[in-house]
Amino acid sequence: MYIDGEFRDAQKTITSINPCSEEVIADFPKATEGDLKDAIRAARRAFDKGTWPQLRLEERASYLTKIAALIREEAFDLAELETKDTGKTTKQTTFIDIPVAADAYDYFASAAKEVKGETLSIPAAALSYTVKEPVGVVGAIIPWNYPFLMAAWKIASSIILGNTVVFKPSQYASLSCLALAKIFDTAGLPKGVVNIITGTGREVGMGIAQSPDIDMVSFTGSTESGREIMKAAAVNIKKLALELGGKSANIVFADCDLDAAIGGTLSAIFMNQGQMCVAGSRLLLQDSIYEKFIALLIEKTKKLKIGDSRAPDTDIGALISKQQQTDVLGYVAIGKKEAKLLCGGKIPDGFAKGFYVEPTIFGEVNNNMRIAQEEIFGPVLSVIKFSSIEEAVTIANDTPYGLAAMVWTKDLAKAHDVSKRLRCGTVWVNTYGGFYNEAPFGGYKQSGIGRELGKEGLLEHTETKHINIDLSPGGKSLVTNWFSV
Ligand code: NAP
Ligand code: MG
Repeated sequence: MYIDGEFRDAQKTITSINPCSEEVIADFPKATEGDLKDAIRAARRAFDKGTWPQLRLEERASYLTKIAALIREEAFDLAELETKDTGKTTKQTTFIDIPVAADAYDYFASAAKEVKGETLSIPAAALSYTVKEPVGVVGAIIPWNYPFLMAAWKIASSIILGNTVVFKPSQYASLSCLALAKIFDTAGLPKGVVNIITGTGREVGMGIAQSPDIDMVSFTGSTESGREIMKAAAVNIKKLALELGGKSANIVFADCDLDAAIGGTLSAIFMNQGQMCVAGSRLLLQDSIYEKFIALLIEKTKKLKIGDSRAPDTDIGALISKQQQTDVLGYVAIGKKEAKLLCGGKIPDGFAKGFYVEPTIFGEVNNNMRIAQEEIFGPVLSVIKFSSIEEAVTIANDTPYGLAAMVWTKDLAKAHDVSKRLRCGTVWVNTYGGFYNEAPFGGYKQSGIGRELGKEGLLEHTETKHINIDLSPGGKSLVTNWFSV
């Protein structure tokens, strides 16, 4: 682990395994209560007594730029490690996770210049202005589906503004984040600015949420864990940014570009084995193209290449863990009772080892079925038929979640209208999965609080201070004579 600028050995360990082969890759530290305390103390000291928050923005930015460059130097090895540890395909880690993470450090290094206060017009002889200040010590907790990338989003946007960080990746995917610690060390990041500790959610995660010495928790994970963190965070009224689950609607209208919509639908549910918060896990399909679209979709789904994640041509790798495989197959069993299995639905033949699940599609789904309401977080698609725009919007919004949606149509007036009526944080029109450092990302309803990325993402990590300087002639403000004593 990386605490106060030192690498710390473990007293206890957790075993990391390759989800494709079930081979042991490494043992890594399971933080104790003492480790967590030290990490929090280090971050506290770096914020309260260290120079980090006082450095000029350009100086903090130079560390981020260095980190981005070091990531690019090691990109190949990092991608390989991420693939081995998580079952994410090489295509994913090589073209998305690692390079996009590097870009995030560069982006925040420069975007932080835009975070600034303003001079206010006030009805008084005074100068009133606001300044944006760091929140303090940020506890950052992330899930296992995009570890290296989410570490970048959270850490870069926190530290650039002068915050310090206690960071915990998931026990199911910690290795790339431990490699990141080495990069921070090589970049010469001052002691205690980022502390990386590995361990379980129950212990370390909860410890972060409960600590009175942490000012803010930035959490990505399930809605259930988010709820628990929110309760724990009440102890010292922590600031919260929560990026939670989803059950996003992928709305395909009859007037879509069929090729684009089919390709987009496949990506929206089978990329990363469906382990995406923004998975288009409910396909809302207009009745007039239902049969034709489904036939094509099944044909293409059956052609997806299931294999070892390390092979460059693998489309579908393994899920993260045995537990995840069991949970997903549990939903498949529920789906078989509720709806009609159209393809997939089992462990693929020849994959007894590894945590694989076939890309699976259910038809004749009704939006109130469990497979339409609950987040499965695997390669399982629920297809729901609709006829009117009105009906599509109603079904799309009929969920406790509000993370994202996709709309496929050549009629842009319709696209604008539907986008406006969807209650979610992101709408992709005729595309899927466009994440940009410049664009805010986050959820409505039970998909979360706050935004990550973009200017909004930076502002999450700030407090706003109002400074008011009296300029009354003679130096005596109104309160001087409030009491006539
Ligand atoms: P999770 O079980 O909620 O875990 C997320 C992280 O929180 C892990 O580091 C976990 O540690 C830790 N944790 C678990 N319980 C905790 C608790 N009570 N207190 C503090 N920390 C706790 O979620 P997951 O299964 O890893 O990830 C899948 C979920 O994340 C899905 O719901 C998905 O939609 C959501 N997600 C959301 C976004 C978004 O941006 N909105 C992005 C990606 C994923 P351990 O794993 O070590 O136990
Ligand atoms: Mg692993």
